[in-house]
Amino acid sequence: MTHEYAPCSLCGGEVVPKCIRHTYHWDGQLFVFEDVPAGVCVQCGEVYFTAETVKTMEKIVLSKTKPKRTIRVPVYTYAEALTA
Ligand SMILES: [Zn+2]
Repeated sequence: MTHEYAPCSLCGGEVVPKCIRHTYHWDGQLFVFEDVPAGVCVQCGEVYFTAETVKTMEKIVLSKTKPKRTIRVPVYTYAEALTA
């Protein structure tokens, strides 16, 4: 199921299908999706999802499907990290 992506809307570069890691924010929580089918611009790296893929990720988050694993994520405030 390969999707034909339109040229990059930012730089006009070729957009090729790839599986990527995507972080998704919802309701103050962070979710990580791995191996998500997406289109990636070969020139600037901009990522494009089909509407169906976005809807599927939303559905997974809303249904509270048991995740494959849970990770802890370090959080920094940029300015404070500089003076630490
Ligand atoms: Zn681009």
